[in-house]
Amino acid sequence: MQEIGHWINGKRVAGTSGRFADVMNPATGEVQAKVALATPRELDHAIQEAAKAQVGWAATNPQRRARVMMAFGALINQNMDKLAEMVAREHGKTIPDARGDVQRGLEVIEVCMGAPAMLKGEAMDSAGPGIDLYAIRQPLGVVAGITPFNFPAMIPLWKIGPALASGNAMILKPSERVPSTSLFLAELLQQAGLPDGVLQVVNGDKEVVDGILDHPVIQGVGFVGSTPIAQYIYGRAASNGKRAQCFGGAKNHMIIMPDADLDKAADALVGAGYGAAGERCMAISVAVPVGERTADALIERLVPRIEKLKVGPYTAGNDVDFGPVITKASKDRILGLIDSGVAQGAKLVVDGRGFTLQGYENGFFVGPSLFDHVTPDMEIYKQEIFGPVLSTVRAKSYDDALKLVMDNEYGNGTAIFTADGDTARDFASRVNVGMVGINFPIPVPLSYFSFGGWKKSAFGDLNQYGPDAFRFYTRTKTVTARWFSGIKEGASLNFKALD
Ligand code: NAD
Repeated sequence: MQEIGHWINGKRVAGTSGRFADVMNPATGEVQAKVALATPRELDHAIQEAAKAQVGWAATNPQRRARVMMAFGALINQNMDKLAEMVAREHGKTIPDARGDVQRGLEVIEVCMGAPAMLKGEAMDSAGPGIDLYAIRQPLGVVAGITPFNFPAMIPLWKIGPALASGNAMILKPSERVPSTSLFLAELLQQAGLPDGVLQVVNGDKEVVDGILDHPVIQGVGFVGSTPIAQYIYGRAASNGKRAQCFGGAKNHMIIMPDADLDKAADALVGAGYGAAGERCMAISVAVPVGERTADALIERLVPRIEKLKVGPYTAGNDVDFGPVITKASKDRILGLIDSGVAQGAKLVVDGRGFTLQGYENGFFVGPSLFDHVTPDMEIYKQEIFGPVLSTVRAKSYDDALKLVMDNEYGNGTAIFTADGDTARDFASRVNVGMVGINFPIPVPLSYFSFGGWKKSAFGDLNQYGPDAFRFYTRTKTVTARWFSGIKEGASLNFKALD
């Protein structure tokens, strides 16, 4: 059985704890590898070595650091097929979807190639007699990235790129369910010219995460995962004086107005609801048609599209629309939630519970399910299902639909499908959600904007990648400099304005 270790000081090293987690093949339900879970001592070693490496890396001029990003981007492109296969093998998503996972991470690296422009500070010449002010951005030092299972390439790249381009060293703690991609990315970064020790990949579970949160050398923590863990990590990191940005779960709604193109809306819902088996934080999990006629017409269009979806292993190539969910526990939880929806009175229009696939009977497959007549008090509405289940909540009016979205505790993404510009504009302006799509179902901002939700979908005040990431991974120092030529003034004890 393959044993996956860590990446420390530019080398793969075996774990020493004797503790391992199973890395599953979600399509077959078999254990395909074991990943080492680091001890606090191994973590401390990785952090101390990173701190040493960070000094030289921070002193490397930003243009040179950007060149490492350029070489890294080229290597990601060259290794696209290998990376996509690695993602699919551990996560279970299809190859085209896995390529998207790598591609959307690569786009963040592409922005990091221009990092020097983002790292410039501000300056004011002659702010007073002989006085110049300038504010510079300096890296935080050693930072940590803690990432979820659902984007094994993209989210580590969202963390690595801006953190390293800004001159930090990083301890990356990938999800123990999908560890291989992060280790391979570290190898590619070494080939791209990153000095050893600047990126350390430490595999582990809660013990390593807690070690990161309490370690005095760690200056910043970027987390992505479920809301309870995001909230916990934010609280513990912040109370230890660290900068923290923690992104959590989601329940994304799509409003469908009576004037929307319903075929396009149905296509969008199928892609955004069932793509990657619904295991995306920007998946649409709630459809909100406005008016009974819109709802009936939408369901009529959704059912045949959903019934046509092909579920299977990534190895079946283009014959598959989505793959298994990540674990048996996840599958059981999703099936339990579907049962609860039925028990609480929602109408199960398409039932994915009985899905099986010959030759893959032990795989973690769940067929696509569609609920109609869901109400906000039901568990299927309240919980993030993170599976191939779409719920329909019928709204009487636009105002009711907007209120539903606004009252939801999550605020990651949302969308509206409409032909009316005024309605779309009102929605974008009033809704209390961080990322909004207009006739666009998964509005993940492109890499030169920043990504982040509101409410219980994010803790901390700066978003991921784009301009916010460079603010997060640097701190500002403001320098007031005076040169005395031509200044006659003697000592003053007053705190006064500059003339
Ligand atoms: P998760 O919260 O279980 O795990 C995320 C990370 O936290 C992993 O590295 C894991 O090892 C670690 N972790 C787990 N339990 C921990 C604990 N008790 N203490 C300390 N660390 C712990 O999330 P997941 O199941 O890997 O990912 C799915 C979740 O991530 C979903 O809720 C999804 O919405 C969310 N997500 C959010 C975004 C976003 O940007 N908002 C993006 C992707 C995924």
